[in-house]
Amino acid sequence: MTSDVLIIGGGIIGLACAVEMKLRGANVTVLCRDHSAAASYAAAGMLAPDAENIANEAMLSLCWRARALYPNWTSKLEELTGLNTGYWPCGILAPLYKKPGEHEVSQRGIPYADRGSRGAEVKKEFIPSPQSPAYWLDKDPIHEYQPGLGVDVLGGWWYPEDGQVDNRALVKVLRNAAVSLGVEFKDGVTVEAITQQQGEVIGVQTNIGLLRADHYLLAAGAWANQLLPLPVRPRKGQMLRLGVPEFVTELPLTRVLFGDNIYIVPRRVVSGERSYRSIILGATSEDVGFTPDNTPAGIQSLLQAATRLFPQLQNYPIQEMWWGFRPATPDELPILGDSHCRNLTLATGHHRNGILLAPVTAVLIGDLILSQKTDPLLTNFHYSRFQNQSSTTTSMLTHPANFTNGYSKNLSLQPAELKLQDSGLIIAGKTFHSRLITGTGKYRSTGVMQKSVAASGCQIVTVAVRRVQTNAPGHEGLAEALDWGKIWMLPNTAGCQTAEEAIRVARLGREMAKLLGQEDNNFVKLEVIPDSKYLLPDPIGTLQAAEQLVKEGFAVLPYINADPMLAKRLEDVGSATVMPLAAPIGSGQGLKTTANIQIIIENATIPVVVDAGIGEPSDAAQAMELGADALLINSAIALAENAPAMAYAMNLATVAGRMAYLAGRMPMKDYASASSPLTGTITG
Ligand SMILES: Cc1cc2nc3c(=O)[nH]c(=O)nc-3n(C[C@H](O)[C@H](O)[C@H](O)COP(=O)(O)OP(=O)(O)OC[C@H]3O[C@@H](n4cnc5c(N)ncnc54)[C@H](O)[C@@H]3O)c2cc1C
Repeated sequence: MTSDVLIIGGGIIGLACAVEMKLRGANVTVLCRDHSAAASYAAAGMLAPDAENIANEAMLSLCWRARALYPNWTSKLEELTGLNTGYWPCGILAPLYKKPGEHEVSQRGIPYADRGSRGAEVKKEFIPSPQSPAYWLDKDPIHEYQPGLGVDVLGGWWYPEDGQVDNRALVKVLRNAAVSLGVEFKDGVTVEAITQQQGEVIGVQTNIGLLRADHYLLAAGAWANQLLPLPVRPRKGQMLRLGVPEFVTELPLTRVLFGDNIYIVPRRVVSGERSYRSIILGATSEDVGFTPDNTPAGIQSLLQAATRLFPQLQNYPIQEMWWGFRPATPDELPILGDSHCRNLTLATGHHRNGILLAPVTAVLIGDLILSQKTDPLLTNFHYSRFQNQSSTTTSMLTHPANFTNGYSKNLSLQPAELKLQDSGLIIAGKTFHSRLITGTGKYRSTGVMQKSVAASGCQIVTVAVRRVQTNAPGHEGLAEALDWGKIWMLPNTAGCQTAEEAIRVARLGREMAKLLGQEDNNFVKLEVIPDSKYLLPDPIGTLQAAEQLVKEGFAVLPYINADPMLAKRLEDVGSATVMPLAAPIGSGQGLKTTANIQIIIENATIPVVVDAGIGEPSDAAQAMELGADALLINSAIALAENAPAMAYAMNLATVAGRMAYLAGRMPMKDYASASSPLTGTITG
């Protein structure tokens, strides 16, 4: 299939962009796994740049621009489809239980005291921008202005320009508009990987096969980082809806209430002849990953806060409860604009404001993709802002490594007269001088890890893709902690229990390496480990995953039990190395599988890397003496009392073992043989 633009994700962002680009003449296809799982369906639909009190200036400008687009955008969509979006510029009232202190400063940097007002009528006291006035209401005026508020409300802000839209209706309208314009939809389709080559996306792998387009837009919401290593995480929000009882003749609220940990959104839905009135309550903000379901704690907190703010709600019937996942980024700003690939654009991470930001996102992304026009605002939302943040002050290998002393190149220890011919370690056509590979896990701190990696003299470092993605302890800022211009990344699939998982994570690993500048890095250390007690690899799953990954162009370095038959099979399917274990991972037991490793070495025509179990330098030296091509050592270094010193010792041992192997061991004899010749000795 070929289309001009292929959009991954059919939430409000994907749909808004699809309609915009179709209207500008592009052929557009939208791939969407599940519409009902989208945050766009779960949201409250507030258009609230003022009530949200957004501190970031660029974000505030973006939100204001979006809000200004809403009236025309929705009426155009309504004309196109004959359907109602529920756009309602109703204003938002933000009541407070505590008056802001004289010296308290709002997030926008304006002292609250400047906003104070007295008197019964609504007063225009403070204008943050001509397009966005805000009014302070004291206790009496606010209760007069909005009857029914809780008695302990002491004042509040009135934001007349904010409003709301019925997000579910809007999503439906957008989809109808898109269909009527000729956008192609592929529903129930999951994108499994974005396949790239030399800075260009060449297709997306899906459950229905490979799909291609000229340009790709990633709009996968909270799931974006399952496809690219972007720092987008789900932030769960629970919501519920109350019905308005028959005896209440009018909607009890005609504006949104935005309180402490609660918002109350009156909603009127007109459907044909009938109209429905309801009140939406939201929302929790929970960092629990993709944990589904409503919980008693979540719902209770919403009900408590809602009935305190607007007590009459306590007798309204609960009609529906649901939850959704906001796509959150570390700085709570969206990721918009170019990516590392020429033909891939990013529009994700809209967090709490994706409904609001949909029209402006569509315009800016349409300009960028179809007219190569970059709005100056977009620079504030480029994904590269996360790459520039360094969580560490020392960058590995940029400070002279005290321990390497020029020994980082293998065999450079040897005096000049002992020239031993060694080709270096060659994996998938790439040559490395060091035969020691290390990892990044289990260190006491990033600084210790950096020093240890430097002291080990290694040129390859393995990194657990999943831990980096989830920012697991010790893996925050890893991207910046090592100098990836000098160290070759070996992404690993640690934590994967099945072949399918490992394949998916391997693809992510490849993207991760690319994002860090290693465009041609197709290496993956394949780990398929279903058993959590002994951490022994699954031979069948490993073989299946290796076969698939080799087909996808990966250089596969599979971690295996020291099984010579399996090693051979893996070699036959095209693996780049085999990595037999010396003993269980992290056990430090030393070489427990020597006999099998020896058979593997004897029969392999690809490098044999002894992985796992090495506890001390003598184990490392012994494995190298056997003829192993390289070692992978992590725990024995990271868990040593002085990790950098142990790394250096492992460096020396690896070199020593390799030299000994090349030098050729003396033959072993059954009986003693005197060191000094007996000829010429005097016997009595
Ligand atoms: C409880 C809650 C309340 C909110 N309230 C508001 C509010 O009042 N105002 C506001 O402006 N914003 C609000 N938001 C935020 C807003 O909903 C989101 O920012 C916005 O919906 C994000 O839209 P999206 O299209 O990026 O993501 P989504 O709507 O999540 O859509 C992403 C889509 O991509 C699909 N997808 C993901 N991965 C793949 C894949 N690999 N292959 C194929 N398809 C895939 C998913 O199935 C999904 O359909 C709220 C969010 C929540 C959860």
